[in-house]
Amino acid sequence: MGRAFVYVILGGGVAAGYAALEFTKKGVANGELCIISEEPVAPYERPALSKGFLLPEAPARLPAFHTCVGANEERLTPKWYKEHGIELILGTRVKSADVRRKTLLTAAGETISYKFLIIATGARALKLEEFGVSGSDAENVCYLRDLADATRLVDVMQNSTGDNAVVIGGGYIGMEVAASLVINKINVSMVFPEPHCMGRLFTPKIASYYEDFYKSKGVNFVKGTVLSSFVFNPDGKVTGVNLKDGSNLPADLVVVGIGIRPNTSLFEGQLTLEKGGIKVNSRLQTSNTSVYAVGDVASFPVKIFGESRRLEHVDAARKSARHAVAAIMEPDTTPDFDYLPFFYSRVFSFSWQFYGDNVGETVYFGDFSGPSFGAYWVHKGHLIGSFLEGGSKEEYEAIAKVTRLKPAVDDLSELERQGLGFVVAL
Ligand code: FAD
Ligand code: NDP
Repeated sequence: MGRAFVYVILGGGVAAGYAALEFTKKGVANGELCIISEEPVAPYERPALSKGFLLPEAPARLPAFHTCVGANEERLTPKWYKEHGIELILGTRVKSADVRRKTLLTAAGETISYKFLIIATGARALKLEEFGVSGSDAENVCYLRDLADATRLVDVMQNSTGDNAVVIGGGYIGMEVAASLVINKINVSMVFPEPHCMGRLFTPKIASYYEDFYKSKGVNFVKGTVLSSFVFNPDGKVTGVNLKDGSNLPADLVVVGIGIRPNTSLFEGQLTLEKGGIKVNSRLQTSNTSVYAVGDVASFPVKIFGESRRLEHVDAARKSARHAVAAIMEPDTTPDFDYLPFFYSRVFSFSWQFYGDNVGETVYFGDFSGPSFGAYWVHKGHLIGSFLEGGSKEEYEAIAKVTRLKPAVDDLSELERQGLGFVVAL
């Protein structure tokens, strides 16, 4: 049993949706393109799962957040794929790939062949078991990667017999889910190993702004330690957590957000890997010329930093996907991918954006007791990173534009004095 397509997108997440839209813009013909996804639904905007999806009032539900609404583009419902002659093979896991033969084998036993393959398999949530803690398959322990996880989390939240949640991890999932739990009137303790939240991006000063607000909402921060074991009741439900520092916390619900691993396993030994992902060039092309990789799974050259990075954020997924399609369909006119890293988050009524890189000296600006403040990172005499909380659309555009230019900065105190005025003036 088998089918053949010109273009196959493996994975049906954010990158797949944006790639599909780009294929139609570039004029793909009926029946030439298929998307194979383990998930049972058409591509959607994954960021909604830790935000609107978890709201107690008027929560976001599909079909409202199918791609590509996150970039203010068309909403691609299953009907849209049908109308555009794109085959959606959903609820189907690909269990092996042969890049030499240009074939994929599904768990249902079907062989799908391609002329061009785009790998968009994203990543999976790391499990506590990988850190030596067992029991995270208990019914009230939740991870958050896909729609099924989010649906389960809502279910556990709604059926919880008590109102104490423990959030493990102080990164993106930890911070966004903790805020959502508070909005659902659940008491939250956050446990993570670093001295402050968002350890890889925030400085202590930025982190303490958000932590202070979370504390004012009743969130209990337990830092510098990790989970050592769960406490179970006779029914196998978790009732508490024991921590490595010897303390323990009651728990009616546990949410774990301790990072991800890119889904590369189908291609290990067949394609070159780098930084935990699949290595691609500035055309998003892997070590096999018929195979491209985009989104969380790809390690691509970030031109402005002169090195390859693997970025786990939605903007990179959207833009790398579009670029790969352009490189496949219009190889002679598509320039190198030249991407400025962009991360953002929204929690409570906060909203921040970050562009560039966070190395070097930090220069703060704005009012850290008010609604808008920010920071620049200056490395080797150039501004290379910008963070802004509570900015306007124009201000965010300005920090993005100026960060890309990497302007020279001779005087840090002058930059501090000018603050946001520095980017607005340029
Ligand atoms: P994914 O969207 O993860 O899609 C991968 C797809 O591949 C999945 O559908 C998966 O089932 C499928 N797949 C994998 N292996 C196989 C296989 N063998 N066979 C078939 N199908 C397979 N980023 C931001 O910048 N801002 C945010 O606010 C933000 N919020 C987030 C909230 C949550 C809850 C999560 C989990 C992530 C968030 N991110 C955010 C990160 C962002 O969603 C990811 O960077 C983005 O989804 C990556 O897109 P992708 O297409 O590479 O992978
Ligand atoms: P992150 O990498 O953001 O954070 C993981 C956190 O867990 C880190 O603070 C990490 O500490 C900590 N940690 C690691 N191991 C343990 C452990 N054993 N016990 C307790 N804490 C631990 O990953 P998330 O899980 O938060 O997010 C998953 C993915 O989803 C990421 O790709 C993220 O980019 C994406 N996402 C993005 C969002 C956004 O951009 N707004 C929103 C939600 C998700 P350490 O740093 O020391 O390893």
